[in-house]
Amino acid sequence: MNDLPQTPVDCQSQTIVPGSYFKSKKKHPCGSDVWEVLRAGADIKLKCNGCAHIITITRAQLKKQFKETTL
Ligand SMILES: [Zn+2]
Repeated sequence: MNDLPQTPVDCQSQTIVPGSYFKSKKKHPCGSDVWEVLRAGADIKLKCNGCAHIITITRAQLKKQFKETTL
């Protein structure tokens, strides 16, 4: 079966809004696993909700290692 998928999965078109929250599959050393989106462009800038550490990752990494969440 290789029909056209009804819902194409394309990480480029995924809407990532600054100010939204993502949960990491692995906890940050500070103990928090919640990250706030600061910037969403070609790369995603995330701020740790626990220690305010800022990381920049790709959309592919975000999809693999994070899950969208609400506080
Ligand atoms: Zn942290």
